Amino acid sequence: MAQLLQPLIEAGQCGVLMTCVDGKIRHVYPIVAAYIADHPEQCLIACCKENRCPRCLVHPNQWGNRLVYPLRSHIETRDILERQGQGKNPDGYEDQGLRPVYSPFWAHLPHTDIFACLSPDILHQLHKGVFKDHLVSWCTALIGEKELDNHFKAMSAYPDLRHFSKGISLVSQWTGKEQKEMQKVFLGIVAGAFDPRAVTAVRAMLDFIYYAQYQTHTETTLQLMQTAHDMFHEAKVIFIETGTRGQDHFNIPKLHSLVHYTQSIRSLGCLDGLNTESSERLHIDFAKKAYRASNRRDYYPQMTLWLQRQESVVRKDDYLEWLGHRGDTDKDDDDEETLIDEADNEIEDSENVRVELTDRENTRSFHALS
Ligand SMILES: [Zn+2]
Repeated sequence: MAQLLQPLIEAGQCGVLMTCVDGKIRHVYPIVAAYIADHPEQCLIACCKENRCPRCLVHPNQWGNRLVYPLRSHIETRDILERQGQGKNPDGYEDQGLRPVYSPFWAHLPHTDIFACLSPDILHQLHKGVFKDHLVSWCTALIGEKELDNHFKAMSAYPDLRHFSKGISLVSQWTGKEQKEMQKVFLGIVAGAFDPRAVTAVRAMLDFIYYAQYQTHTETTLQLMQTAHDMFHEAKVIFIETGTRGQDHFNIPKLHSLVHYTQSIRSLGCLDGLNTESSERLHIDFAKKAYRASNRRDYYPQMTLWLQRQESVVRKDDYLEWLGHRGDTDKDDDDEETLIDEADNEIEDSENVRVELTDRENTRSFHALS
C-alpha cells in the first residue's frame, strides 16, 4: 500500500495540475478520501486490535452504548506507533489497543485522516451483522423457531416480495440478497407476536437499515436515522429482560459501528457507493474465476496472466465495438445520401412528367388548330 500510494505524498505536498470537467486547468492536492473494507481489514489499517473500534476510542465493554466516543487521531496515533517502535512505551499504546505496526502506509500522507476514511459497511455490519446474526436470532428465541417458520409460511404471496414457503429455520446459508428479502417482510412477521417493545426495536432497526441505504440524504433523513438509532437503544433492553440475548449487555462491535453512520454520511456522502457488496462481487471475477483458471499450484503468476488476458479481451472487444459503431455511422451517412438521392430523383421525375404533359398539351393544341 505504501508503494501504491507513494505518488500521493508529493502530489499532496506540491499539488498537481489537472484538467477539470469544465476544461479549466486547476492546481489540486489529491487525498485519500474513503477506504472500503470489512472489520478485520479496517482494524489492520487502523493498526488496532480486532476487539477495538477502528474509528474511535470506545472501550470494548461500552460497545452497547449509543454514545459517540472521541475519534482516533491520525497524527497522535502515528506518533504513538513511532515512539513504540523506538521502544519508548508511550502512553496510549495499550489504552488505545494498538498493534505493533510502527510505520503504517498512511503515516505521511498529507491532508489525510485515515480513520475518517474508513467507511461504514452496510453488507457486513447491517444485513449480515446486526440484522441476521443478532436481531433475527433474538426474535427467533423470543417467538420460537417453529412459530416463526409458521408466520413466514402463512404469509400470502405478493409481487416483488419473496415468499419463504418453508420458513427460515432450514436455510443454512444466507446471501445478502436473501437477507434483504427477509427485511422487507420481517416487521409484518413479528408484529403482534410478542412484547410491543421488541416490535419497536425491530421496526427501529429496519428503519435505520433502510435510511442507511438512501441514495440522497438531507438533514431531515439524517435526523430520522438518528431517531431510529436512539429508538432501538431505548427498546433493546427487552431482549435482556426476556433472556433472549443470552447475556446482560450489548457489547457487540457491529452494533457499535452504527454510531458512526450519520457522521460518515456527512463526510463521505451517501453509502450506496461505499458498499462492500461491489468489492465482494469483484472478488468472484478477479479472484475466484482467476484461481479456477489456474492449475492451483503457484497460482499468483497464473492468475495475474489470466487477468491480464481478460483485460486485453475486454479492451479488444471495446475497440471492435467502437469500429462496428463507426461502420454504422458510415452506413447511416450512406443511407442518408441515398435518401437525398432518391428525393432528388423524385423531383427530377416530377419535372419530367410536367415537361411531358406540357408537350402533350402542345401537341393537342396543335391538332386542334389543324
Ligand atoms: Zn467507534
